[in-house]
Amino acid sequence: MTTPMTYMSGRLQVMQGDITALEVDAIVNAANHSLMGGGGVDGAIHRAAGPELKKACEALRRDQWPDGLPDGEVALTPGFNLPARHVIHTVGPVYAKTIDKSDLLASCYQKSLTLAGEQGMNTIAFPAISTGVYGYPFDQACEIVLGVMAERLPHSDLIATLCFFGEKDLEAFRNVASRLGYQR
Ligand code: ADP
Repeated sequence: MTTPMTYMSGRLQVMQGDITALEVDAIVNAANHSLMGGGGVDGAIHRAAGPELKKACEALRRDQWPDGLPDGEVALTPGFNLPARHVIHTVGPVYAKTIDKSDLLASCYQKSLTLAGEQGMNTIAFPAISTGVYGYPFDQACEIVLGVMAERLPHSDLIATLCFFGEKDLEAFRNVASRLGYQR
């Protein structure tokens, strides 16, 4: 786990590490439509949170999202055994070369920030949504995330953390940020 670097006057923190270890008001889960857990960060979050998380997700499916959580939407559960108080589940788009899904990926970040703000949260941490199994090109995803954060964080009380799992991802993010003129 690295010490966070900051952008946007300290409102955006960027680090390498395991998101399940972060003590924040909410971590965001790159979930799938079923909300029943899966591989990657979703699996790691379910393992660390314990079986209560799956039960809470089953209740969300029953009461709010009987057909599953659509792309770009968000749903809230407690964090159970996680150090994070809550989990915001969102479904990133599966990358497709011929269809522009950037708005859907942006929506995951926008709606997570909105929900966190409505809940009076101060701190939220994101994994690199859609850049694993869902195949979104990493640099393109970073540009989308930076755009959302630059638009939203100055007008909110939130401190957002981008938690990259690998050193290479952190380095790639730094390169994109510097190419786009974001100062640390
Ligand atoms: P998606 O299906 O949205 O692509 P994945 O879980 O496959 O989701 O990957 C999303 C990102 O989460 C990838 O960059 C992957 O390296 C990262 N990741 C996997 N496990 C963790 C973890 N424990 N903490 C933070 N990031 C993680």
